[in-house]
Amino acid sequence: PIEVATFGETMASLRADDPIRLGGTMRLSVAGAESNVAIGLARLGHRVGWTGRVGDDETGELVLRTLRAEAVDVTHARVDGRGPTALVLFERRIGDLTRVIYHRAGSAASLMSPEDVLPALDPPPRLLHVTGITPALGPGPAAAVRVAVAAAAEAGVRVCLDVNHRSRLWDRDRAAEALRPLVPSLSVVVASDDELELVAPASAATERDRVVSLLDAGVDEVVVKRGGDGASGHTLKTTEHVLARRVRVIDLVGAGDAFVAGYLSGLLDDLDLAGRLDRAVTTGAFAVASPGDWEGAPTRNELGLLDSLPGSTLR
Ligand code: ATP
Repeated sequence: PIEVATFGETMASLRADDPIRLGGTMRLSVAGAESNVAIGLARLGHRVGWTGRVGDDETGELVLRTLRAEAVDVTHARVDGRGPTALVLFERRIGDLTRVIYHRAGSAASLMSPEDVLPALDPPPRLLHVTGITPALGPGPAAAVRVAVAAAAEAGVRVCLDVNHRSRLWDRDRAAEALRPLVPSLSVVVASDDELELVAPASAATERDRVVSLLDAGVDEVVVKRGGDGASGHTLKTTEHVLARRVRVIDLVGAGDAFVAGYLSGLLDDLDLAGRLDRAVTTGAFAVASPGDWEGAPTRNELGLLDSLPGSTLR
């Protein structure tokens, strides 16, 4: 049986190391916040299912084939020829600053509906993971999130929301309007420090107030990501802060998703809050230290690699 269900839009991705306007070579892969989390969990040995729609096209085949190859269950994913598989372009600009360009309006995934995701909750998994990206894709995806989150909570499935605000898709007011009503059904909220206000009540003025109001509203754990400064986790009982692992930054894109995969893996393994955060910053560091959104995600055997001595050889 599936332990973790997730759904969302996975796109074909093209990555350039030089300015796109100058032409040259790009690397083809796939990218999507939820499928990044799914792959991160599958690498760690968890049984995870991804649902969504891809177009009836070669890039859609690439998305499904990649997920299958990474041992992610795609039984409930659909091919929908009414729209294409979306495309995202990543352009390395200066230093570790990456420009992201979407071609996703009218995509197959924007036609997603609650009927796509409800079958993935039967039999109920242990966790449902959603992101704040999906409701921005259109009315069908927004309904899919609302309905799936409510149905999961009703069935006793713990629901994790990564706020993941994408300002290119919608503004903060619209995001808050869509995300705040989900709170009573959420067990885990993951947000960057500047994203907490999109789920917490508008009356909460400080980070502390926002965390407390989410916990008071019934959220079991609130996790705040702070990039290179690490992360904090809060439950009604305790608060833990953890530093980021020190690694050479290769590619920051996907760090947040890798972090979530590590955190949820720790939750599935019944680690305590400190243990969950430790696994999260470890998987986050793998993403930062390797190229691509998900390609560098560690297997369970590799989790300890960052503790090996610098310059040592793996034998
Ligand atoms: P993205 O949306 O780009 O995936 P995010 O904003 O959601 O990222 P961040 O807070 O940037 O997420 O990063 C998530 C986690 O990844 C951090 O909490 C940290 O553990 C790890 N991380 C991020 N940047 C670095 C870094 N420079 N060095 C080491 N670890 C990092």
